[in-house]
Amino acid sequence: MQTGKIEVEREKLVAERAAILDDIEHLREWLQGEVDPDADEGDPDLAEREKNLALLTIIERKLESVNIALRAIEKGNYGICERCGQPIDPARLEVRPDATMCLDCQREVERIAKKAALRYMEE
Ligand SMILES: [Zn+2]
Repeated sequence: MQTGKIEVEREKLVAERAAILDDIEHLREWLQGEVDPDADEGDPDLAEREKNLALLTIIERKLESVNIALRAIEKGNYGICERCGQPIDPARLEVRPDATMCLDCQREVERIAKKAALRYMEE
């Protein structure tokens, strides 16, 4: 991948990271502020809290992905599949800038993970 394009990606990722950190901060504030010790199960506030906690987990995972991508750029292996070492399809990076694997490897890893999960559930 050309250096100029990587620089554009890096800027995009840095902006995304700032937005994610902002979201995390707001969610954390919200979660800290709305603790009602008398809340019952089925309380709408409690449901909202569960939802935001789940959201926070998703956003934190996203942040981790963005950090991984930024580290890869720093190390100079951004856009290179970490599993097979082949270049990742630029169209894929367009959709998933934090992709660290090519589509083939991603599918393979997911297939293995699914198989392992199934085996675990059978036990
Ligand atoms: Zn690969």
